[in-house]
Parts: sequence; C-alpha cells; structure tokens
Amino acid sequence: MSRIYNFSAGPAVLPVECLEQARDEMLDYNGSGMSVMEMSHRGKVYSAIHEEAKANIRKLMKLTDDYEVIFVQGGASLQFAMIPMNFLGKDAVADYVCSGNWGAQAIKQARLIGQVNVAADCEKDIPTRMPRPEELNWTKGAAYAHITSNETISGAQFKVFPKTEAPLIADMSSDILSRPFDIKDFAMIYGGAQKNLGPAGMALVVIRKDLAERGNKALPTMLKYSTFVEKDSLYNTPPCYSIYMLMLTTRWLLKFGLENMWRQNVEKAAKLYKAIDASEFYRGTALPEFRSDMNVTFRLPTEELEAQFCAEATKVGLSGLKGHRSVGGLRASIYNAFPVEGVDALVDFMAEFEKRFG
Ligand code: PMP
Repeated sequence: MSRIYNFSAGPAVLPVECLEQARDEMLDYNGSGMSVMEMSHRGKVYSAIHEEAKANIRKLMKLTDDYEVIFVQGGASLQFAMIPMNFLGKDAVADYVCSGNWGAQAIKQARLIGQVNVAADCEKDIPTRMPRPEELNWTKGAAYAHITSNETISGAQFKVFPKTEAPLIADMSSDILSRPFDIKDFAMIYGGAQKNLGPAGMALVVIRKDLAERGNKALPTMLKYSTFVEKDSLYNTPPCYSIYMLMLTTRWLLKFGLENMWRQNVEKAAKLYKAIDASEFYRGTALPEFRSDMNVTFRLPTEELEAQFCAEATKVGLSGLKGHRSVGGLRASIYNAFPVEGVDALVDFMAEFEKRFG
C-alpha cells in the first residue's frame, strides 16, 4: 500500500493513525461484535463515542458551560440556511462579510430569508484578501454578524477576528481547530467536517445556549438549533460514523496539542510561501498579511504551465493541487493531518519544475 500526498481542499487527508484505528475496529468495535455503523445510536457503546466526541471538542476549544456542541447533518451549506432561518427575524438585518466565494454563498442563502447588510465586500479583489477592521460597516442592532474565518478557494484567512456588538457567527469550515481561538468572541461557530475533523456531510456547531433558545420556534423540528441542543444531537439518528471519526481525530489532536498543531501549521505554510516568494516563476494570489495557513494559492506564468505542473505533480504522488474551478491556478491544501514531509516534497518539486520551465 502506498499513500500519496493528498493536497485536496476537502474531503481532505485524515490522520493515518485514525484511519488505521477505524480499519482495525471496523468489524468489531470495542468487543461489541459489530461496526459503529451497525449499532444503535441509543445504546451504551455508541453513547460513549458521542460523549467523547463532544468532550474532546470542549477541551480543545476550552468551552464554558454556556456553550453546547452539536452535530448537524447537511454540511456547512445547510448552516448557511439554518442561521438566517433561526436568527434573522422579519424586520431585522444581519451583517455579513463577503470575503470570497464562501462568504458569498452564505449571503445568498440569507437573502432568501431576510435582510442582509454586506459589512464589507472583497470577494473579487486580486490579490485575494480579507477586509481590514476599518473597512467593516456594522449595522446597529443587527440580529447577528457572519464571517468566514478562512476562504478555502481564495486562500485568505482572518488572522485577527473582528469584534462586533451583534452576536458573531463564524464559518470555520476550512480552519476549524487548526489554531487556538477564544470562543467568547463568538456566539456560534461551525464547520463542515471534511477538512480537519472527519468525513463529509456533517457540520460541527458550537453554539451559545441562549442564542439557540432565541431561534425561530415556528421552524420544522430538524431545522431548529434548539432541537439539537435539547436532544443532545440525538433527536433523530445522528451521523454516527462521522461522529466516531471526529472523536478519533479530536483525540489525536488532543494528544498532539492544539498549540503544537498551530505551530506546525504555520511552519508548513511558511515553507510554501517562502518557496513562492523566492521565485519569479511562482506568484502567490493572496495578500501576504492574509495568507491562509490551510490553503496556499498560487499561479504560474501561464495556464498551460499550471496544467503541466498539476499533471507532473500527480505522477510523482502530489495530488489535488489544481485550484478551484472558479478561479484556476494552483492550491495546496495543508490541513492538520497533512504531513510535513508532503510539504517538503512539494517545495522540492516546485524548485525542480522551475529549473526546467522557469
Ligand atoms: N464554507 C467553507 C469555508 C468551505 O470551505 C466549504 C466547503 N469547501 C463550505 C462552507 C461548504 O461545506 P459543505 O460542502 O460541507 O456544505
């Protein structure tokens, strides 16, 4: 068996030891004689998994009792809809930062429900970037404010989060648990699981209980945050296997330490940005002060060379480097589980490719 270096933006590489453990436990989880996929979500064996997954998140994010950890099907995209459905009342306004494609997607869904104020818009800026504090126009009395902590496609990342009077909600899909942050700055954070946490299809949501309670009561049961809080994400059958994988990856992360992971992530990204900056051939696409530590985006002199770069990289086991179809270019996604050696291999490949074509 040989594993390649998988630079995919998501679903993305998971820690090998978690995959190995899942493999070893596939047929007989913990002496139960069955797979986690086959057992009752109300039984004792699964309950322990569910509880550990939540407890690991609580430890990693240093959550106080006023926050709840919930697991919601439908990925981050359903959150784009659930947030305004729950919190954007008829006469209210919600503030949204449009920092790229994902911010724009969130706005599009919110506009189907109610009134949106775009607090700043830098979606189309080249180089790609996040808005600066002085550019943000918040609405007095807004129902909430929404940001995207890391724009996966453009490769721009908030290094310092804005402070808002309104409850702040962040889509952290592509940098969740890649660095420490203070939960007190947020009323809610969420992320699709398929980058730093586990399989796709589920969102991890951390929500302040008072916010969940304030949500629109007239919604269908499965669309209310209060249902997930009150029923411990067990109102219906939860995505048990995804939660199990999240439990394993968060256990792995606790062992490594979030601070250590952050340091390693910064170092990994810095190696790639250094290689880009040292060359006239490669050109970074994000403004240096907002460069993402998770998604490193760059271009070559021509699209033909970019295609050739991807094709040759794939042949030597460096896969998933093609930029998002909406923007082109190249993107190296290097989430928590992406190995340091893979970054070194890409740096070497870049130097070698430039020698031949630069
Ligand atoms: N937000 C961000 C920042 C993302 O990167 C993604 C997926 N790439 C999404 C939202 C959408 O996630 P999902 O596919 O789980 O709905």
